[in-house]
Amino acid sequence: MEGPITNALTIDTEDWFQVFYGSGNITRADWPRLESRISAMVDRSLDLLAESGAKATFFVVGWIAERDPALVRRIAAQGHEIGSHSYWHTEVFRQAPGEFAEDVKRSKDSLEQAIGASVHGFRAPGYSIRREDEWALDVVLQAGHRYDSSLLHATVPVSEVRPGLVEVAPNALRAGGRNLPSNGGFFFRMMPYPLYRAYVGHLNRQGVPLVFYTHTWEIEVEYPRIPMPPVRRFVQYANLGAVAGKLRRLIADHRFAPIGTILEARGRAQPAS
Ligand SMILES: [Zn+2]
Repeated sequence: MEGPITNALTIDTEDWFQVFYGSGNITRADWPRLESRISAMVDRSLDLLAESGAKATFFVVGWIAERDPALVRRIAAQGHEIGSHSYWHTEVFRQAPGEFAEDVKRSKDSLEQAIGASVHGFRAPGYSIRREDEWALDVVLQAGHRYDSSLLHATVPVSEVRPGLVEVAPNALRAGGRNLPSNGGFFFRMMPYPLYRAYVGHLNRQGVPLVFYTHTWEIEVEYPRIPMPPVRRFVQYANLGAVAGKLRRLIADHRFAPIGTILEARGRAQPAS
């Protein structure tokens, strides 16, 4: 019997105005003149993780790294992994391959310049690499990433989806003909903690790691609310105040590591070829 399974801890690092809902009211042209709260959000996230010593993968929006490289260095200096969350935080399926390739490269370059080290991981905004968008995996690989964590439709938790590119799939539940992320975000916010813990136990007993994700704007919740229709407003903002406390319990009850660390350990466990 091996020890308990190691789950992945990930934080999508984006500012309050870089979300999809409400993007009809706020576009990227507005970003430079909006009041950034990302520094406070990151500090709150770092403080929360420092309480337990847990390490995470921060998937950072490249735009942030270009404007505030010291912020990204601060995350890395505390032993966390830096991954890319694209440059413009735009869904993959809204972009032509060439446009996406440019975005992915610019993000990786900005992050690597900030930390002075290679970035291996990529997560698409909103898990937006659908089955029909898998051309995007070739772009992610060609940009020099070693793993992706974006495919809600993946059927195997961890697998080599291209030679040299490993997919660490976000956990999903099938509902209404769609795969919805059950590995954090809205699902984690709304579900009572004991139920969520039972869900993680169920995954782990099947040998499946939880690839937990939350957002910087779910951990530090003091920021302007973007006007949006009621249902979207609910999905975006409901129960935000519960996340930090539940995350502390989740970390105390399970073993976590950054994705890069988990993949390194897997690589060592496999016989050399
Ligand atoms: Zn995001």
